[in-house]
Amino acid sequence: MNPVIVTIDGPSGAGKSTITKQLAAELLFTYLDTGAMYRAVGLKIHRTGTNLDDRNGLQKLLDTIDLRLVPDGDGTRVLLNNEDVSEAIRTPEMSMIASRVSADKLVREKLTLLQRNVGQKGSIVAEGRDMGTVVFPKANHKFFLDASPEERARRRQKQLAEQGQEVDYKETLEQIIKRDKDDSSRALSPLKPAEDAIIIDSSEMTIDEVVDFMVKYIQR
Ligand code: C5P
Repeated sequence: MNPVIVTIDGPSGAGKSTITKQLAAELLFTYLDTGAMYRAVGLKIHRTGTNLDDRNGLQKLLDTIDLRLVPDGDGTRVLLNNEDVSEAIRTPEMSMIASRVSADKLVREKLTLLQRNVGQKGSIVAEGRDMGTVVFPKANHKFFLDASPEERARRRQKQLAEQGQEVDYKETLEQIIKRDKDDSSRALSPLKPAEDAIIIDSSEMTIDEVVDFMVKYIQR
């Protein structure tokens, strides 16, 4: 039987990670966090001081990168050349760096390939910005998860606080708006719903309500 692919795209802070993890657990599918992959590549580029204009240097970095997502409880640990960078990639600075490097053609080509490989190995719930549009255009079920920028900033601030990082609400809101604008206006794989995606506004919904809706939709 062919693997089943479920895609969840949407802007940052719409609840994608929590919802994708929970949905994958309920369906017994693998959870694929593609944002973590862009963050890990961003970290590597940042640490090595690689300039995106240095195309040969960037290609070499991408050819030799050892990036692994290892299931851990209901989440994933991110291993970059055997180093666990799961926490290091979650800072506000890394969010902005990931967004910047994700507009690069070589980076997108490499990660699209890795993501499709995961999708060939078994059923997955994949979260990102271009899962339903570019990486898995023939996915079995596609969702686009949205929420107001204010609600997303509140959620992001709370999520970071739970990880011990105190951030300013206004600054978080400004970063979210900038990141959405950059992600939506870039030439390559911009953030947008696939034509056949179900759009869900989660501003007024709980996580459980969204997951229930998705499970029912998939099993209908
Ligand atoms: O989802 P997350 O906030 O971890 O993603 C970090 C950044 O990676 C996003 O702002 C976006 O620029 C980029 N990204 C992407 N395509 C994906 C997943 C993430 O461009 N499929």
